[in-house]
Amino acid sequence: MQTMIAFHEALRLVKEAGNARIASTERIPLARASGRVLATDVHAPLPLPPHRNSSVDGFAIRWDDVAASTPCSLRVLGEQFAGCSASFVAQPGTCVLVTTGAGVPEGYDTVVMREQAERVGEHVTILRAPSRQGEYVRCVGEDARQGELLLSAGSTLDAARIGVAAACGLDRIAVFTRPTVAVFTLGDELRQPGEHLEPGQIYDSNRPMLQALLAECGIESVSWPALPDDPNRLRAALMDAAEVFDLILTCGGVSAGDKDFLPTLLRESGRPIFWKVRMKPGMPVLFGELGRSLYLGLPGNPVSVLATFRQLARPLLDSLQVRRDGAQPLRAKLTEAVIRQSGRREYRRGALGVDENGQLWVKPNPIDGSHRLVAAAVSNALWVMDEHEAELQAGDVVSVEAFASIDRWGNTP
Ligand code: AMP
Ligand code: MG
Repeated sequence: MQTMIAFHEALRLVKEAGNARIASTERIPLARASGRVLATDVHAPLPLPPHRNSSVDGFAIRWDDVAASTPCSLRVLGEQFAGCSASFVAQPGTCVLVTTGAGVPEGYDTVVMREQAERVGEHVTILRAPSRQGEYVRCVGEDARQGELLLSAGSTLDAARIGVAAACGLDRIAVFTRPTVAVFTLGDELRQPGEHLEPGQIYDSNRPMLQALLAECGIESVSWPALPDDPNRLRAALMDAAEVFDLILTCGGVSAGDKDFLPTLLRESGRPIFWKVRMKPGMPVLFGELGRSLYLGLPGNPVSVLATFRQLARPLLDSLQVRRDGAQPLRAKLTEAVIRQSGRREYRRGALGVDENGQLWVKPNPIDGSHRLVAAAVSNALWVMDEHEAELQAGDVVSVEAFASIDRWGNTP
């Protein structure tokens, strides 16, 4: 097992292990596909739009009839509503009433907005000439040509992409299956929220937090009540889960304390890939294979859980689903100077906001204890000091990742 590796090496190893697993695929209804990763390319099976249609409510006209002089009067041959396809014999001096999305009948090449025409009985007066031939006519295939590549395998299905798939007539879509994830918290001091707390005990805050982090990634995890610091109980529970789940996530028990049994357990019963990463918080993070599962052991301190989940677990979940467009960090300016000792890649809490010029700013939170979860709850981002950086000035640009919504600058707590 490699010990104390650089963060980027850890990230590479995590993605490599995720990519090495063969992701299976499933065809699911489009209505349930939000956030899923597309498993095949989608080419347009038909041109979009599939027929020439009007972009406004108005009158389909012949450009030649109105180009020379307006106002002019045209005879209304009939009506064409969206969804209908009546046929008209276009003659000079005539027009057809059309609604938005209605097919523009053969022989007419331009649409005049209803507001620029005055209808009296069978006749309509065009008050103002269209600015060009073809105005307000949507052409066949102007959004997509038939056969064009519209969506690529590996991309996340967001609302617009789901709309595109539906516009192509797809009712089901092939996506990569989501990894199944087992969550274990461990520690003799942990009680579940709702239970009575004895002296020396604390509530298990990481379990619901991890479930929420996984839910943000679209993953419904399975979790157990906290396990005791007992190597046999830990081994039995983890080895059982390792038969079933794609990924086992634990938190706690990975440091060098007398009750930190997981590094030894992984060495004896699995295959460690790395233990300890030059990052802060989260240094003792442990990664490897256990039974048929991948195993990621996050440290127990809640802010370490936040940082290591976002920086390592999420990219791992992305690679297991073959996601190619996972979240990328933003770049923001620091509001104040920061000096530090650590030589590790450091994830600090901060308030990220945008000023009236559109510039992103991050205001560092001075608290850095990895047990201080409240300081994370009043923050909305983690920003990065790289290994070699000892000092940063106000206005320096840093990498930053929002974990909550970015308010307008000044509104953040
Ligand atoms: P460990 O990594 O097990 O040494 O735990 C480091 C710190 O995190 C200790 O102060 C633990 O009490 C705390 N901790 C571990 N697991 C949890 C948890 N599930 N919820 C809240 N705090 C925890
Ligand atoms: Mg512990």
